[in-house]
Amino acid sequence: MQVAASQSFRRVLSSMCTEPHPAARDAAERFLASNPGDPTTYPSVSALEDEAVSLLGDITGLSNPHGYVASGGTEANIQAVRAARNLAATDDPNVVAPESAHFSFQKAADVLGVELRLAAVADDRRADPDAMAELVDDDTVLVVGIAGTTEYGRVDPIPALADIAHDAGALLHVDAAWGGFVLPFTDYEWNFEHAAVDTMGIDPHKMGQAAVPAGGFLTREKRVLDALAVETPYLESTSQATLTGTRSGAGVASAWAAMDALWRDGYREQFERSQANAEWIADAFDSRGYDVVDPVLPLVAIDVPRETVEALQERGWRVSPTGSGELRIVCMPHVTRAMLEEFVADLDAVRA
Ligand SMILES: *Cc1c(COP(=O)(O)O)cnc(C)c1O
Repeated sequence: MQVAASQSFRRVLSSMCTEPHPAARDAAERFLASNPGDPTTYPSVSALEDEAVSLLGDITGLSNPHGYVASGGTEANIQAVRAARNLAATDDPNVVAPESAHFSFQKAADVLGVELRLAAVADDRRADPDAMAELVDDDTVLVVGIAGTTEYGRVDPIPALADIAHDAGALLHVDAAWGGFVLPFTDYEWNFEHAAVDTMGIDPHKMGQAAVPAGGFLTREKRVLDALAVETPYLESTSQATLTGTRSGAGVASAWAAMDALWRDGYREQFERSQANAEWIADAFDSRGYDVVDPVLPLVAIDVPRETVEALQERGWRVSPTGSGELRIVCMPHVTRAMLEEFVADLDAVRA
């Protein structure tokens, strides 16, 4: 069988993944056949994982981070819910999140038998602390804030959500799966230093430019990570806190290599390019009379008729809509100005 050519990113505009940094690609290849899930057998990838977690701590304002390189944001969210549930005393646990939360929380609620309560967001599309507080009760084990929402790139008021969580005796989880590698270069209060955040998800395989799969799960306190540990009778290490068993050494090594190469100047330069591109494409649509959700992070949503989106898809553009049908453009590192210019030329052609 002929193996198809690997995916080209030339017309990919709605993905949260991107071309890995060359150092990440190289590291992934070198560690393809290693398993960080078995650290005594594979000590070198395990040492890289410790360094990767420490770098994730630098990026998120946590000087003594506990955590690991997960399979992605979904696993980090499941683990945050699981840790909070395991630490709480209630038999009827619930999680309170804004309705802008990623759909992975529905999976978490489903597999863990936890009720998911979604609060309406405010007019600015961020979590509304009053609406969240109304859903919190004695059985709330976790409050969730999003630092860079999947659909609109919005950053929830994390310090206010931390207060709500802790007043109720619950933990606060911040989902920075997509936003974590751009937020350090903004004025938002989103990280472990800015607020009493207990757990966080941050994905090197999105804006971090690592190879897939490379997510990050971090906890401020060791006891929270320990709440996930199970005994591992046939391995030499005695316990395991990860959700998966065998894990991708390629993902771990590439996460470390990408962060080692890019934190912090490389990520800053990329953020500046991506944000400028987002503002450029927002202006391009705005000047053509479309309603644009302004990009506070490098992600733009535009109200574009369905048939225009389909005509652009027919021209090979990988674009997908938000839940409310807006065209969503994520200015990932592979999205260049030249690509966006070509896209706008096609837009003008199909709407003419
Ligand atoms: C992408 C995303 C996720 C899911 O991450 P995966 O790596 O796809 O599992 C979770 N939360 C947010 C905010 C995301 O953007």
